[in-house]
Amino acid sequence: MQRNFITFNEDLKSLFNIDDQNIHIDGYEHVGDEIIINLSRERQLSKCPVCGELTDKVHDYYTRTINHGVFNNRKCFIRYKQRRYRCDCGKRFSLPNQFVEKYNKISTNSKWSVIKEAILVSSFKDMGKRLNMSSTTVRRIFNMYCKQSRKSLPRVLSIDEFKGNSGGYKYNLSLCDPSNRKIIDILPCRYKDYLHHYFSKFSSEELNNVEVITMDMYHTYYDICKEFFPNATIVIDTFHFVRLVTNAAKKIRIRIMKKFNRTDKEYKVLKSRWRLFNTKPENISNDWKFDKRTKQWTSDSYLLDYMRNIHPELATARELLESFYEIVHSSTYPDVYSKISSWIIESKKSNIGEYREAALSIERWLPEIVNSFMINPDTNTKYTSSFIEGSNNYIKVIKRTSYGFRCFNTFRNKILYHHNNSRHVVSA
Ligand SMILES: [Zn+2]
Repeated sequence: MQRNFITFNEDLKSLFNIDDQNIHIDGYEHVGDEIIINLSRERQLSKCPVCGELTDKVHDYYTRTINHGVFNNRKCFIRYKQRRYRCDCGKRFSLPNQFVEKYNKISTNSKWSVIKEAILVSSFKDMGKRLNMSSTTVRRIFNMYCKQSRKSLPRVLSIDEFKGNSGGYKYNLSLCDPSNRKIIDILPCRYKDYLHHYFSKFSSEELNNVEVITMDMYHTYYDICKEFFPNATIVIDTFHFVRLVTNAAKKIRIRIMKKFNRTDKEYKVLKSRWRLFNTKPENISNDWKFDKRTKQWTSDSYLLDYMRNIHPELATARELLESFYEIVHSSTYPDVYSKISSWIIESKKSNIGEYREAALSIERWLPEIVNSFMINPDTNTKYTSSFIEGSNNYIKVIKRTSYGFRCFNTFRNKILYHHNNSRHVVSA
């Protein structure tokens, strides 16, 4: 097919992504591993931005070099011969164009590449290498065009902190909507003053819409929820209150273990099979296996019995742990209050310090723990923080691939932008 020069020029423009009717490609050249595209614009009668008169008097020309990303693995630059007009009123001006903004050294197309690439989990440094820019430029463009605003508060809200180390705070905070699997916002810290300041900006209508809040046993969250969310039922996540009991069992095991010498069999079993002591009964295997290290036949249930018999407190600890697992596994909202209450009494009676402590904490949070046995009509399951825990793991991946974020706002934008735009599903 024959092509005249005009369509050839248009083809070139579309190939190089230069979307501006008034611009011509005068040619392009290869210099080393770079492509330089020479652009110009026809002289025309132009309107003075000050007095509105038309003029085509040329004041001067100057050449702008503009970063245009990467084309076929080559760094690509635009060399634009920009014309400055002169008006009789004294004003000197240039006409705007669509491939680069005023005073910019990066083309609009290059900026788009940053916005598109930012969806990938990758560091600004790597993006910069791919896009022929410094990481600072990538970060600047990202923060300028990918700024994320918070979402409105959902019916069910999850609050949890994660180790962020960003913005000078050890913990950052995430707010999630577990029913719709969305991250609502990321906050720099979990301090009460900050949370107070943050939530006081919400309208009372929005705050009143929140019906359930899942969280861990952190008093600041509780106080904030009580202050700002008059209609919300507070739910302590199962994982967090079960951990109180499993931690108590762990502390007892370690305390008893330390009464023995390192060479004693009791010490070795309590040390090496630590996980077994806290395993749920349904996961304890009866299968006999040959242990190469001790050169003996053994099974998990046999070893657990052995541990129980080392010390009466270990037997009681295991018994209380198993009964707690059973309560969590099989209770329903109407009967859980009495079941946990009896468990608290039993634990206090045991006279084991670690369990007394756990029982007191559970007693203190009992109404909120009981609430965790309610059924969420949206999902037909119990209210848990599993979505937010999953999203915190996802944030960890972003943090790792980005070599950390010193600037909290960039970190926040990156998490929200990525989460809002990728098809990535956070596992619950
Ligand atoms: Zn003028």
